[in-house]
Amino acid sequence: MWLNMISQEVLKELNVDPNTGLSELEAKSRLEKYGENKLTSQKKKSIWQLFLSQINDVMIYILLGAAIISTFMHEYSDAVVILLVILINALIGVVQESKAEKSLEALKKLSTPKAIVKRDGIIKEIPSEEVVVGDIIILDAGRYLPADLRLIESANLKIDESAFTGESVPAEKDSNITISNENVPIGDMFNMAFMSTLVTYGRGTGVVVNTGMKTEIGKIADLLSKEEDNTTPLQRRLASLGKFLGFGAVGICVLIFIISMFQGRDWFEMLLTAISLAVAAIPEGLPAIVAIVLAMGVQRMIKQNSIVKKLPAVETLGSVNIICSDKTGTLTLNIMTIKKCCINNNLISIDDCKLDDDDTKLLFEGMILCNDATSKNGTKTGDPTEIALLDAGIKYDLYKEDLISNHSRIDEIPFDSDRKLMTTVNKYDSHFKVFTKGAIDNLLKISTKILLNGKIIDFTQERKDEILNFSNLMSDEALRVLGLSYKDIQDESISINALEKDLIFVGLMGMIDPPRQEVKPSIALCKQAGITPIMITGDHKNTAFAIASELGIANNINQCMTGAEIDTYSDNEFNDLVSNYKVFARVSPENKVKIVKAFKSHGNIVSMTGDGVNDAPSLKAADIGVAMGITGTDVAKGAADMILTDDNFTTIVAAVEEGRNIYTNIRKSIIFLLSCNLGEIVTLFIAILFNLAPPLLPIHILWVNLITDSFPALSLGVDPKDSSVMKYPPRDPKESLFAEHMGLFLGINGILIGGVTLAAFLLGERLYPGSLVHAQTLAFVVLSFSQLFFSLSMRNRERTLFNIGVFKNKYLLSSILLGICIQLLIIIIPFLANVFNVFILSARDWGLVICISLLPFIFNELFKVIKYR
Ligand code: ATP
Repeated sequence: MWLNMISQEVLKELNVDPNTGLSELEAKSRLEKYGENKLTSQKKKSIWQLFLSQINDVMIYILLGAAIISTFMHEYSDAVVILLVILINALIGVVQESKAEKSLEALKKLSTPKAIVKRDGIIKEIPSEEVVVGDIIILDAGRYLPADLRLIESANLKIDESAFTGESVPAEKDSNITISNENVPIGDMFNMAFMSTLVTYGRGTGVVVNTGMKTEIGKIADLLSKEEDNTTPLQRRLASLGKFLGFGAVGICVLIFIISMFQGRDWFEMLLTAISLAVAAIPEGLPAIVAIVLAMGVQRMIKQNSIVKKLPAVETLGSVNIICSDKTGTLTLNIMTIKKCCINNNLISIDDCKLDDDDTKLLFEGMILCNDATSKNGTKTGDPTEIALLDAGIKYDLYKEDLISNHSRIDEIPFDSDRKLMTTVNKYDSHFKVFTKGAIDNLLKISTKILLNGKIIDFTQERKDEILNFSNLMSDEALRVLGLSYKDIQDESISINALEKDLIFVGLMGMIDPPRQEVKPSIALCKQAGITPIMITGDHKNTAFAIASELGIANNINQCMTGAEIDTYSDNEFNDLVSNYKVFARVSPENKVKIVKAFKSHGNIVSMTGDGVNDAPSLKAADIGVAMGITGTDVAKGAADMILTDDNFTTIVAAVEEGRNIYTNIRKSIIFLLSCNLGEIVTLFIAILFNLAPPLLPIHILWVNLITDSFPALSLGVDPKDSSVMKYPPRDPKESLFAEHMGLFLGINGILIGGVTLAAFLLGERLYPGSLVHAQTLAFVVLSFSQLFFSLSMRNRERTLFNIGVFKNKYLLSSILLGICIQLLIIIIPFLANVFNVFILSARDWGLVICISLLPFIFNELFKVIKYR
């Protein structure tokens, strides 16, 4: 058992040198030998299964029944067309579903955690699936473990193992412990760490001992098959709408059938007509279209740097009216440069520091030693705040490698955004030095002395106020300020709790982090779109306000509140106040949750960004949790609904715009489909009601339904982005699909399509008295053409087609062209004409048909011109 061996033995057994890790070559061969490090998930459906699931539908059974009846009645052409309709429908369904599934899978891959490994002596990030037994893994707070590990090094390492132990307090780990007993529960395996558990604190290194299904989590397979419900609210609403419409359509069809029986019509023909109408009228294509439009939208968003992890988020995005954003890295570049330095009560430019002064040297030395970043020959790793400190040292030939080799680190308390401090203990010749760096307000609380011109004196309130004053001067210039305190200790075994106490204050450093250029216009766009941008930051109030006012987020310091002030209000008091504030500074992760809840209490739809270990609760509390892709921890990414691959505020705004567009497009497809279906019902219902001959044959109805339900509706779903969506306030998420008179619009257009089809039929009866086939052919072509042309009007409700660009949606134009061509072929090719029972139309007929078919389109375009000009 790995836990019973000392770490050196484990490393020997696994044949790996902890200083270099495995070689890439060896890792590759192990990967081939033992397979990928993943838990085998549920099997994917094969194409054949997908096809079968398309056919397994009540509508299809009804159609199959109709085909069988047709065969018995020797109406073979009807039977063939019905079967063809079933086949094409199923094929389109398979293509759509597998495409949607593929995009979702690609998405899943993008958001799976990565692992930091050491290979060939180089530390790098690789997909967790490529981790092999023997890999040396670096652990840091916020990261999920990629495999089961035997720890070989640990510094205050704590791991949340609640998935195994149910214990909510993270387990403390220690690589130096060797456990003698073999049968210890997981909770007591102090020197081991397990796949899918989470590092919540500290640092560590481990060697992989098990991967994939051999890991502890792999053994509990059913933990993994928990699939989340990934249907969106719209999809759920559509499912119930579909049912409602289905019953309605079936009701009308039964009615048509009963009326026609009273009229003494041919029962078989009317039965087929009623069945075809029911099949055509039920919008069975809707779910597939919505799924694929969502999936394709999500694909587009990836290209714009946002990974949507949960489909419902796409819809919610369109309704967001408050975007709470971190400052550092999201609104700013997160490229820090030290500008000023405060030492011995002097505020000076970083270029004017004198390193021969001992106090100044101590300030630099402490900032460099109490630091986890690296910066060497232009290659930098770690937190930009810390890199800036190293770079300031490099200016004066102070290098971290040299300092650390003389003053090795023997203990540390890592930085966290609650304390806003970091502490290390470093070895000096005859003693140890504790360095604590961090937020000035917190540092002042634990510093009792100050180093002034080489002397250590009492840090009186007056002196603290002086220092605060210097700090504020820097903050007002938008500088992020970090302070340093230290103390000398003799005994290295001093308890952790005693480290951050009774410190001696040394000085301050102020660094600039310029705002991102592209953010200012994005903030303006947000405001225009009825969205309020809110800045939330761990930084100082003045620094935050300086940047917020530059970006246009706030214009008065009274719009800024600090975390300490938030703490003084009860939840209810804070809810009442929250709308007056635009900037929250020096906040803790708990404050973030309170802020989200307060905004939500007013019915706002809130998006919140986060990156740290403690940000998960606020990301979950928000309607849209947004994690940072670059600086974000696995926890934040796990809790989020969306990940920004570029950590940029502008990307959130672009995602909101995309979300609004996707919703608008889905709505276009739905309204289009329903208008067309209504058109078909209107045609037949009126004809039967007025005791006319049937204007359409069952196969005509099925065919038109096939042509319009598929490609044109789908093409509307991918209509190009309409930037005017950002001119309106956000949509109320509870708003009905038929809001904004959409129901009326649908009704009018259904009646229009039905009306022109009937008109064509009646005209045909006039022009060719006694030839029902002629009149039916005209109605058939008009029904399909009018729907195809009408789809062009659906692209925008307010702007005419010529206004938004005729050729902008190439898919729609191609679908229309395809529809027209197929229709032409059916009429021109004698064999097909025979099957569909249609007549070859003359040039005059074509002219007539096209003019009549254009009427709904022209009506809609004229209406837009009159109403919206
Ligand atoms: P946000 O990203 O939320 O805008 P932030 O990055 O400014 O906020 P934190 O990273 O929590 O927030 O930092 C808050 C404060 O903690 C900083 O203003 C700084 O004073 C201090 N701080 C930041 N990083 C470190 C560090 N590595 N070591 C010590 N102190 C730090």
